[in-house]
Amino acid sequence: MRDGFIISVFNYCDRWCDTCSLSSYCRVFVATTGDEASSEINMGALVGAAPHDRPPAPPKWLEDVLEELNSLAGRPFTHEELLAGEPTMAAAHQEIYERAKAYCVWVHDGVGHRQYDRHRDPTDPRAVISWFSSLTASTIRRALTGLADFDGNREAPPDHEGAAKVALLGIDRSYAAWQQLVTDHGLSAVRARPCLEALAWLRARLEAAIPDARAFVRPGFDEPEAVARLRAAAASRPPERAW
Ligand code: SF4
Repeated sequence: MRDGFIISVFNYCDRWCDTCSLSSYCRVFVATTGDEASSEINMGALVGAAPHDRPPAPPKWLEDVLEELNSLAGRPFTHEELLAGEPTMAAAHQEIYERAKAYCVWVHDGVGHRQYDRHRDPTDPRAVISWFSSLTASTIRRALTGLADFDGNREAPPDHEGAAKVALLGIDRSYAAWQQLVTDHGLSAVRARPCLEALAWLRARLEAAIPDARAFVRPGFDEPEAVARLRAAAASRPPERAW
């Protein structure tokens, strides 16, 4: 925890903030909703009047580094620099990412012209399928490029394992959503089968590539007892005075 927020909780979530049980502990969510509120014509004055934590001025050495970075960022990158900065992955893993992308495009193009991305209700399996198709492709890429960069140092939990866990959980939810479409919404099993097979293939290959992924402990989400203690402490605190 820092300043009332769970550190890094937003690094291993599914980005579906409307459904997130930890949004009040997420610095990204609070910053984003603060910005959104500021842009509302009736909320700007209210947000501006709220007390803000102002970060202290940076030390001189940090100012110098930032100035140097700013001046470097002022010139365009060369082609070689862009290529050197492009994350890579092992050739053997490229197919996993390519098939995750193909699945995502397939869903967004509308499987059978169903246009699943029109649906937003998180209880609707079409919304779940749509949401996780993009997230799965992007987190698989992050996991596999991170694995290629991994130097074996396990002092901190490796990011690629966390990214792979997020991808695997998204695959699990997508798989269940396709099954729900068949059982509850009349989608024919024949139509659903290629999607289920694609997801099962991705799951097996990703688990084989990053076997420790499921054991990764996501801050907050995989710490239910610690979160329960936080909530209990917050509930027992006297209400703050209105500012
Ligand atoms: S942790 Fe929750 S609120 Fe924060 S970005 Fe992720 S989904 Fe959104």
